[in-house]
Parts: sequence; C-alpha cells; structure tokens
Amino acid sequence: MNIKCAFCQTPYTLSRIQMIDALQKMDAEKLTHYDAHCPRCRRSTRVERKRVEMFFPNWREALKQLEAEMQAHPQPEASSAVESRPDAAKQKEPKKAKPQSAPKPAAKKTEKTKSAAKKK
Ligand SMILES: [Zn+2]
Repeated sequence: MNIKCAFCQTPYTLSRIQMIDALQKMDAEKLTHYDAHCPRCRRSTRVERKRVEMFFPNWREALKQLEAEMQAHPQPEASSAVESRPDAAKQKEPKKAKPQSAPKPAAKKTEKTKSAAKKK
C-alpha cells in the first residue's frame, strides 16, 4: 500500500510482509495505528489499522501461509527479522524442535542404587 511521509512528503510503499508485520503487531498490542518509517527522513508516519486492514483483508491467512513457508524453508533473513521483535519470536517458536523420546535409564539406575545403598 502507498504511504506519504507526513514530514517530507516522500511517497513510499508498504510491502505485503510489512503490512502483515504491522497488522500482527497492532493485533498483539491492541493498537489502532502503525508507525511506518519513511525511507528518506526516517520519521514515522501513522497509518491507521483500518486502512491497512482494508487494503489487506485476508492478512491472517497470508500470515499462516507465510509461517508455513518459513517453517518449510527457513531463511536467514526471516529469522533476523523475527529477532528484532522478541514478542513475535516467542509466538513463532516451534513447540517441538526435536522429538527426543529415547529415555536414559542409566541416570535413574544410579539414583536408585544410591538410595537403596543408603537404606539401612
Ligand atoms: Zn520522510
């Protein structure tokens, strides 16, 4: 979507990713606007949430697709983008990194023998 800087009048655009990111943030923090940053003067211009939602009504679906894609093909750029937003990183953290179901009976055995040995 197109935005015009409120300070220097530079027109710039928000990409789909930026819109998703903005909507996600606004949704999580219950905000009614997003601060878009001007590429020229770096000052922030407020963009109303309604406007972004109108421009990108199916963003939740797009977000799901994006997350599925990112899980299937992890990219270094994507992870660094997440890094800058710790709250998002928490949500995106995979619940099962590695299924480690192999138990180690050795540790428990020593514990048992210890307590058994202590027993008088
Ligand atoms: Zn500007």
